[in-house]
Amino acid sequence: MADADQERSGSPEVDGNTLVAMSLARAGVDRMFGVVGIPVTSLANRAVALGVRFIAFHNEQSAGYAASAYGYLTGRPGVLLTVSGPGCVHGLAGLSNAAANAWPMVLISGSSDQSFIGRGDFQELDQIAAVKPFSKFSAKATDISRIPASVFSVIDWAVAGRPGGTYLDLPSDVLHQTVSESEAERLIIQAENGRNKELIEKPRINYSEIQKAVELLRKAQRPLIVFGKGAAYARAENGLRKLVESTGIPFLPTPMGKGLLSDTHELAATAARSLAIGKCDVALVVGARLNWLMHFGEPPKWSKDVKFILVDVCKEEIDLRKPSLGIVGDAKDVVEKLHKEIKDDPFCLGKTHPWVEAIKNKVKENVAKMEVQLAKEVVPFNFLTPMKIIRDAILGVGSPAPILVSEGANTMDVGRSVLVQTEPRTRLDAGTWGTMGVGLGYCIAAAVASPDRLVVAVEGDSGFGFSAMEVETLARYQLPVVVIVFNNGGVYGGDRRNPDEITGPYKKDPAPTSFVPGAAYHVLIEAFGGKGYLAGTPDELKSALAESFSARKPTVINVTIDPYAGAESGRLQHKN
Ligand code: ADP
Ligand code: MG
Repeated sequence: MADADQERSGSPEVDGNTLVAMSLARAGVDRMFGVVGIPVTSLANRAVALGVRFIAFHNEQSAGYAASAYGYLTGRPGVLLTVSGPGCVHGLAGLSNAAANAWPMVLISGSSDQSFIGRGDFQELDQIAAVKPFSKFSAKATDISRIPASVFSVIDWAVAGRPGGTYLDLPSDVLHQTVSESEAERLIIQAENGRNKELIEKPRINYSEIQKAVELLRKAQRPLIVFGKGAAYARAENGLRKLVESTGIPFLPTPMGKGLLSDTHELAATAARSLAIGKCDVALVVGARLNWLMHFGEPPKWSKDVKFILVDVCKEEIDLRKPSLGIVGDAKDVVEKLHKEIKDDPFCLGKTHPWVEAIKNKVKENVAKMEVQLAKEVVPFNFLTPMKIIRDAILGVGSPAPILVSEGANTMDVGRSVLVQTEPRTRLDAGTWGTMGVGLGYCIAAAVASPDRLVVAVEGDSGFGFSAMEVETLARYQLPVVVIVFNNGGVYGGDRRNPDEITGPYKKDPAPTSFVPGAAYHVLIEAFGGKGYLAGTPDELKSALAESFSARKPTVINVTIDPYAGAESGRLQHKN
């Protein structure tokens, strides 16, 4: 049919690879992350020729983490391209991370020739089955004519409802089929017209629920507004600011909600978290799940009588948590409707309200305690001394604020309480899944999504090691990323075993938690023309930060941390 078609039209031939690239570009995809190889190399080349920036990684795992974070930061699905079989399997890391964090992402993998399935073809795998636990929608283009509709469907499904990961399977025989250019154009237009618009429509908000929510907040003695990365994804920051400032209700961001309203805002309850969640009587929770990170919304962390008003785009989430009141809707729409409803009959707690005062006093007290610790210059470095220096350097950059990438156990825990977020979507961390190894992928995604911002990663040496080879990717694309490695020589640092645990034939092996002591991570990036610094004192760290923040070139700062500072498992010791 394809041949007959070309004879009729006389226009040039387009193969499957080109048609995928054309469809992606038509769907608005402007960035792709991945690792090329059989059968998708020419797909990447075609995409670049059509104006899509392709960021080529060393490992699909990091590229997948990049795609997931790109989806979160931009609100458009991040696209990961992989080869068949093992490439797809490596890509599952990114897809599962997107699913766990509710971020939009599309995994596109080449797959074996359909005529050889079941006979041991090159990199053969039932990829549709492999992605199933992590993909909210999958499509296989079984013929070239199916390509445009498949591309649009995976993109639309990724952002539909609760965002998440979707999958597109491209058999190699289909990538090599051809159609005429005019037929390709016709197929794209037909697929565009066939897009399911309802899929990406925002839910209609029930006005009576808005009224009920306002009544609950109005009557509350100790109200609290909690927001998470669902609110950040929805770009609800302006509505939230109006809501908080007009009602005087204190707010608490989740780790990635930090920055939607500045951590320095006078109603920020971040430094009084235990008091805020332990004593609030009505909590308006916007785009954040009552999961492990939020202590399941249960005692002893929360009061047993607390009334939750849960705002989520996903009805199933509300059905699961059974809050006092659930509002299904887009976070931005809902908070703006709440603010509008309140404006007609305003109420405001005021600065002298006992609840507001209690929170403010607790914040002051905790901040003062922390500053005393931060003021000490401890060398060899503990976690706090270098973290304070980094905090001040990041704040010194001003606006647009750097995007912070954070992972590790102690490094991430300490970073979360010390580092300050002043702008929305400027924090990326291990997230809902506690994923380690996201660091370099997130850095690259952030740099590509926000070219005007500096990207600063603060991560443990163990977290860094998962994707350390991607420093070459930083150097190759000359991205403005400064990676600060807290090097304590291992997972949680040095050997923490009791002497009586160190027995058996392999007792002379390094501990499962240790790496080579004093590893020269800063030299790694120099192998690729990047800049490296070793910092073991406050002065060394300050000058490395000053130079690298102004140069905005790929940099690794290797910070020597006392291997016995911090705790095993960081803050989550009870889970180990
Ligand atoms: P956090 O880790 O910050 O607590 P979670 O990932 O647990 O955040 O929760 C985010 C929630 O936000 C998810 O339940 C998701 O369904 C929801 N969500 C995603 N997009 C939107 C949106 N546009 N409006 C409202 N809620 C959203
Ligand atoms: Mg470490």
